[in-house]
Amino acid sequence: MMIDFHTHAFNPKIADRAIAQLEKNAGFPPLTRGRTEQLLDRMDEWGVDKSVVLSIATKPAQQTVVNNWAAKLDKEEPRLIAFGSVHPDAEDCCEEAERIKELGLHGIKLHPDYQRFMVDDPRVDELYDCIAELGLPVIFHAGLDVVSPDLIHCPPERALKLMRRHPKLKMVLAHLGGNEQWQQVYDVLAGVEGELYFDTAFTTACPDELMMAIIRKHGAERILFGSDCPWDSAARIAEKLLRIDLTDDERDLIFGKNALVLLDMNT
Ligand SMILES: [Zn+2]
Repeated sequence: MMIDFHTHAFNPKIADRAIAQLEKNAGFPPLTRGRTEQLLDRMDEWGVDKSVVLSIATKPAQQTVVNNWAAKLDKEEPRLIAFGSVHPDAEDCCEEAERIKELGLHGIKLHPDYQRFMVDDPRVDELYDCIAELGLPVIFHAGLDVVSPDLIHCPPERALKLMRRHPKLKMVLAHLGGNEQWQQVYDVLAGVEGELYFDTAFTTACPDELMMAIIRKHGAERILFGSDCPWDSAARIAEKLLRIDLTDDERDLIFGKNALVLLDMNT
């Protein structure tokens, strides 16, 4: 079972516009045009069984429509596992988190750079409490993002403060704990006890030795395979994980077993 814990697809009504804007920010072409069918085609090509699809409400007013679409996707496509999103500036963000759970969505995505909050800002504490209470995993964009190169909203030091303050929150830090901040991740975050997972999305640029060191220090049972499709390929990330010196048992955990445990799913 191969589960990609970090992919993106968009509501077809906004897919073209969203992907064009993101492509401009990224400065390189994506591997899909943001359509669900194209994600499924890539999964077939790369040998991925199931994918977690992450959406982001970039404005408070977008929460409802984003989550309604995610719920529809989750019901209609058995190979896709949809997460919802809330915006910390929305007055009803806690209620929306509850609605995400009622809709049967599997977790919540927060993007501190796009949503413009420092990950450990006390004003978000109430929302974190609500999410922890619901038992939903929350996945954060972590480390550098091209949208805010001068201010990283979720660096390893702040993520650590947050997890110390909210030990019950099930946290996934994308991009192996912090995009382009892998040495700090190794120094500050890796191996810290608690409900802290890292995914492997968009880690092609991470040196193999450093990736290996982070996984060893943190423990393979808290690493989740992820690609960041359409911004990186699951085949390329899988190749990297096959190349570094992991045991077969560790690979089984990373490629799917850990995701099933975290998502409380059987298959
Ligand atoms: Zn992503």
